[in-house]
Amino acid sequence: MSFATVINCIDGRFQTSVNQFVRQHFDVSFVDTITEAGPVAVLCKGLPKNVEHDVNISVDAHDSNQLAIVAHESCAGNPASDSTQKSQCLEAAANLRVAFGGCEVIALWATLDGKVVEL
Ligand SMILES: [Zn+2]
Repeated sequence: MSFATVINCIDGRFQTSVNQFVRQHFDVSFVDTITEAGPVAVLCKGLPKNVEHDVNISVDAHDSNQLAIVAHESCAGNPASDSTQKSQCLEAAANLRVAFGGCEVIALWATLDGKVVEL
């Protein structure tokens, strides 16, 4: 069994599309999912202890070494413009690369029509 880890918004509209994308992109069986409302707004500034804790469980218990951070259209938890959210998502990915040096980290943008793209 192989695992990757995703940090996604709480928004239920983006769980299925993001899960499918991450499973296919990293060719893993399962995606451990950490949710926060608009996570990139916080993660672009640093790594909250609860998120660090949850990622470490995924990495340690499930041998995940591939991480994705997600921003999406119409985020109620982070009501910033699309361009601001995308910048925050890239900054958050950079912070995650520093914090989890053994992990590959990708930044994703999810849209309401079900598409997910790498930033
Ligand atoms: Zn959201």
